[in-house]
This record gives sequence, C-alpha cells and structure tokens, in this order.
Amino acid sequence: SLSTPDRLFKIVFVGNSAVGKTSFLRRFCDDRFSPGMTATVGIDYRVKMVHVGDSQVALQLWDTAGQERYRCITQQFFRKADGVIVMYDLTAKQSFLSVRQWLSTVEEAVGDRIPVLLLGNKIDNEKEREVPRGLGEQLAKENNLIFYECSAYSGHNTKESLLHL
Ligand code: GDP
Ligand code: MG
Repeated sequence: SLSTPDRLFKIVFVGNSAVGKTSFLRRFCDDRFSPGMTATVGIDYRVKMVHVGDSQVALQLWDTAGQERYRCITQQFFRKADGVIVMYDLTAKQSFLSVRQWLSTVEEAVGDRIPVLLLGNKIDNEKEREVPRGLGEQLAKENNLIFYECSAYSGHNTKESLLHL
C-alpha cells in the first residue's frame, strides 16, 4: 500500500441516512461489518488501493459525515469527483423514493460528465424487502446509471460494484 498508484479516483457517496453507506465503505476497505456502529462523524474519506488490470489504483472514498440527514451536502463535496455512488436501502421504500432527489443534487453539482453507481443495499435481508429489483433496474436504465444490489453485511457485490464504477 506504500507503492505509488498509477491513478487516483475520487468517489463520493450519497443517499439517505441509515441506508448503509458507512457500513459499505467499512466492508470494502477493511472487509469487516460492525453492527451497531454509530453515525458517521469526523472521518471524511478513506483511501483503498486496488488492482484494476495491470494498474495500481487508489480509490479515495468520501463518506458523508452525517450531513445527509439535513440534505445539505455542499457543491464542495463533489469537487473533482470521478464517480458518484447513490445508495438506497431495499428494505426501506422511502430511501428509494429519495433517490431521484439525490440524482438531482448530483446532476446540479457535476452534470452528467461522470459515472454514477446506484446501489440497493441490504440484500441479505430479503424477507423485509420493500423495493423490487425491477424498480431499481428501471430507474438505473432511465438515468444511465450502473446498478447493483448489494450487502455491506455479507459483502455481496461490494467489490464487484465499485470495480465496475
Ligand atoms: P449510513 O447512515 O448510510 O452511513 O448507514 P450505516 O452504515 O450507519 O448503517 C445504518 C444501519 O444499517 C446500521 O444499523 C447498520 O448495521 C445497518 N446495515 C448497514 N448495511 C447493512 C446490510 O447490508 N445489511 C443489513 N442487514 N444491515 C445493514
Ligand atoms: Mg454514515
């Protein structure tokens, strides 16, 4: 991890509070899930080195430190972003209904010049699903987004989705 990366990508993470953004980053960076983790405070971003083909790539992953509760994520947060992740919780319909607003926020900030990954998290909890997979797929298709369902809890599709982005 001390070697110099060939590329650095800044990825920013948005979505309603409690959809699992911080848990996803923890799973991706540390391969761990910590239940009952308290709301994000203080930590702004983490860097994770990954191999993509023959390249050593540094992913600078920006988490929202609680501001998403107030929907007041600033333009500054999106500055120089190379990619955006919009996450909802597939066991919470309201978080999916908010995705359109998040997409507007993203578009205002970055236009349509960078790729966006739509993630439906908590697929491990299938029995409490409130958002059918087809709805996520359809929204992604309409808006030209990459789409995955994933689980920070089990690790399902965490690496795959981020590497795709
Ligand atoms: P954030 O506010 O978007 O950063 O969400 P957190 O990462 O703090 O997670 C909110 C709650 O959802 C916590 O209680 C987590 O333990 C739980 N959670 C996060 N990801 C998953 C998941 O993939 N599956 C399940 N079952 N629970 C999850
Ligand atoms: Mg958080």
